[in-house]
Amino acid sequence: MEILKDHFDVIVIGSGPGGEGASIKLAKAGKSVAVVESYSLVGGGCTHWGTIPSKTLIHVIRQYSEQKKSRLFSRLYHNVKVTSDDLMAVVQDVVAQQVREREGFYERNDVVVIEGHARFVGPHTVEVTDEAGSPRPFTADYFVIATGSHPYRPEDVDFDNSRVVDSDTVLQMHELPATLTVYGAGVVGCEYASAFKDLGVKVNLVNTRERLLEYLDEEISNALSYHMRDEQGVLIRQNEEYQRVEVNKNGVVLHLKTGKVIKSDMLLWANGRTGNSAGLGLEALGVEIDHRGNLAVNEAYQTVLPHIYAVGDIVGFPNLASAAYDQGRFAGTHIAEGVCDERLVRNIPTGIYTTPEISCLGGTERELTEQRIPYEVGHSFFRNLARGQITAHKAGMLKLLFHRETLEILGIHCFGHNAAEILHIGQAIMAQPAPHNNIKYFINTTFNYPTMAEAYRVAALNGYNRL
Ligand SMILES: Cc1cc2nc3c(=O)[nH]c(=O)nc-3n(C[C@H](O)[C@H](O)[C@H](O)COP(=O)(O)OP(=O)(O)OC[C@H]3O[C@@H](n4cnc5c(N)ncnc54)[C@H](O)[C@@H]3O)c2cc1C
Repeated sequence: MEILKDHFDVIVIGSGPGGEGASIKLAKAGKSVAVVESYSLVGGGCTHWGTIPSKTLIHVIRQYSEQKKSRLFSRLYHNVKVTSDDLMAVVQDVVAQQVREREGFYERNDVVVIEGHARFVGPHTVEVTDEAGSPRPFTADYFVIATGSHPYRPEDVDFDNSRVVDSDTVLQMHELPATLTVYGAGVVGCEYASAFKDLGVKVNLVNTRERLLEYLDEEISNALSYHMRDEQGVLIRQNEEYQRVEVNKNGVVLHLKTGKVIKSDMLLWANGRTGNSAGLGLEALGVEIDHRGNLAVNEAYQTVLPHIYAVGDIVGFPNLASAAYDQGRFAGTHIAEGVCDERLVRNIPTGIYTTPEISCLGGTERELTEQRIPYEVGHSFFRNLARGQITAHKAGMLKLLFHRETLEILGIHCFGHNAAEILHIGQAIMAQPAPHNNIKYFINTTFNYPTMAEAYRVAALNGYNRL
């Protein structure tokens, strides 16, 4: 569609959750808004390379693996083989639905979508270069940079070889490998290692840290290691660093600094991300970029130039789609109203879609002990719950940490089927002001039965009875 205007109240760069949150908020506040997107479709890395494709892939792989384990379906489908094309067809279907949804948001709110790569050529001007290479300047009173991030690629690793992939290019895989090495055991590395193992691929997971996802409560991180290693059969190497990567016609050889050598058909590099700040022309404006490619912002998401805001992965932590959307909305509110009193919630939940799924909120046992907070712990094991037994999702646990005197919930830690959903029940109570944030809520409430929500009653009683 031809773009008739050259000036907008606000130009947003990037159509991921950060850019979308800002654009829609601003459009609803009556501002004229354009969003510039360099990819041919809206939705951002979140829709095309990150959250949506990975979560879809993980979901269908889980379905496949659960059916293979099911007493009924394993008889019916015992020799069904799944190909990467089958998996990607499902991913593309969900991505297409998401793109249609998001296009509708922009259309309905009169946000102009400009396709091309944006670069600042002045404090109030961006030059947008389309696919044909033609540049066109656009001006605005305000800008929101929401350009996201990309996987970090060390120079000595040959990503031109199709045997070496990262979280973006893994989605272009045409053939499933028999063996896969995942380098980097952060959330993305653990999720993909676990998913490929569920598909029947032999997986090596190389962790550069001492234990998996160290920031989690130790019991949860240990449970993840146990299930990935002993139940799923992922070979985990902890505290290792690569020395070099060798690619030959038979596969990939990962040489570790400790002298170990790991051979596999394919290597998935999942070790860090860099903000998409290069080529934006920010240095000339005096906006500094740190060594991770991120931009510094104040509480209102303004860079050193108050009319240029930045949100989402480009500002670093927490690097989550959920937070990026909120940050975009907050920046939009600040531009439209001059103030924004809303802030990201202090406790941002973690959702990790491994097998088993993990979700956590608030303090860990280690943190509460360091802070000398007198807490008590209550556990509920999914294997003891009626719903867990009916659905055969018995591997899992809900753990509540609460203050011994005030009974305030201080931390919720969960692993097992649907942990990311289950967590939000506790979050709603934990977010209440005193005295309503109270473990007794779960004891005095009647839950649907049989449900996984019942885990809260069981864990609360387990902890309360220990006081
Ligand atoms: C494998 C994987 C799984 C993930 N899973 C989850 C999850 O389960 N839950 C969760 O909350 N988060 C998850 N994330 C993180 C989440 O995807 C990101 O935090 C989120 O996408 C960040 O949103 P954003 O708006 O900052 O940027 P993005 O979604 O990355 O969008 C940025 C957009 O800006 C465009 N762009 C960049 N530069 C320019 C330019 N100069 N001009 C024009 N356009 C430009 C890009 O093309 C892109 O479309 C995952 C990430 C990965 C990689």
